[in-house]
Amino acid sequence: MNSTIREQFPILNQNINGHPLVYLDSAATSQKPRQVIDALKHYYEWDNANVHRGVHTLGSRATDAYEGAREKLAKFINARSTKEIIFTRGTTTALNLVASSYGPANVGEGDEIVLTQMEHHSNLIPWQQLAKKTGATLKYIPLQQDGNITLEDAEKTITDRTKIVAIAYVSNVMGVTHPIKELAAIAHRHGAVIVVDGAQSTPHLKVDVQDLDCDFYTLSGHKMCAPTGIGALYGKRALLEAMEPVEFGGEMIDDVGLYESTWKELPWKFEGGTPIIAGAVGLGAAIDFLQEIGMDAIHNHEMKLAAYAEQRLSQIDDLTIYGPRNREVGVVTFNLGDVHPHDVATVLDAEGVAVRAGHHCCQPLMRWLQVSSTARASFYLYNTEEDVDRLVDALIKAKEYFTYELG
Ligand SMILES: *Cc1c(COP(=O)(O)O)cnc(C)c1O
Repeated sequence: MNSTIREQFPILNQNINGHPLVYLDSAATSQKPRQVIDALKHYYEWDNANVHRGVHTLGSRATDAYEGAREKLAKFINARSTKEIIFTRGTTTALNLVASSYGPANVGEGDEIVLTQMEHHSNLIPWQQLAKKTGATLKYIPLQQDGNITLEDAEKTITDRTKIVAIAYVSNVMGVTHPIKELAAIAHRHGAVIVVDGAQSTPHLKVDVQDLDCDFYTLSGHKMCAPTGIGALYGKRALLEAMEPVEFGGEMIDDVGLYESTWKELPWKFEGGTPIIAGAVGLGAAIDFLQEIGMDAIHNHEMKLAAYAEQRLSQIDDLTIYGPRNREVGVVTFNLGDVHPHDVATVLDAEGVAVRAGHHCCQPLMRWLQVSSTARASFYLYNTEEDVDRLVDALIKAKEYFTYELG
């Protein structure tokens, strides 16, 4: 990946605490390229209007831009039709939509919902709530030492009682990639649906929802170079057709009477209220940007960086790295001795290196790892080997600092 990519991200061109910024927190949110920022600016300077109703020129431009973004996203993840793409605020909202609409209609007492212990809180709590409401039970596919799951364990956990399997394609903490296609086949054999949390996969891998044969797939724009506030739910058309909306109001209606109303067809019946128009425009621009570079090139670049980071970081004594060895995505989670990760991150920040420290919205996984929190470096297309070197140098400084402090 050439260095001109980095130059397309204006925010990266600044000093933090006297050092050029090294941004290693893309798993929390990605930075935005000039192309996306310009698309937002253009939209607000030229096309802004409400969608699906204006007879005037701006109204139709805004509608074209909004629906055009839906088409781009449908192609990007290889959905069969734009009817299968519901715009949401992000992954969290999309997962909640499935849990609160599909959930109560299809899950009852004694049924089972299957998860893993490494799910993000957003792919855990909606199912806890659904289980409480319906009397269903949550079951967890056990984790191996390195955070992977096995298909044998999945076969044992998913049964004829299972109604929903909900799992991340890629873990935001461990960098583990799950075998979604195989899990989908197991779920389907038992008459269950599979809901895929794609917040960490969509930015980094080529995603094909038809090939994965997942029933629902969720994503967040802000983790893939688009603005905050836009994301999507993909669902197989027949499932979405049968589902009830969860938000009611303007935009999603067909005919409204005093006592009864009817809904628009897919996908609009799920998009009550003025939608996230500018966000969708930004998402469309981000998809163009990613596709110009190529998802395979992005993925290869990140795998190389992750391998390089792993190799360099493993040379630091006292550094514990969590997760599998051969990562397919650029997420490396670690702890430095028993120094609190917040302190590590503070020292790194003083060196201009931004990493995340905390539980990463995965408290059950932290318990499984027997730590309260970790530090995490996550890479994206704009990161370089030089960024890894800066991380390593800063960690060595942190180590000296804390050895001195403690000693
Ligand atoms: C970020 C993330 C989410 C939540 O996404 P939001 O954009 O905050 O809704 C869910 N799952 C995973 C794996 C994530 O990384």
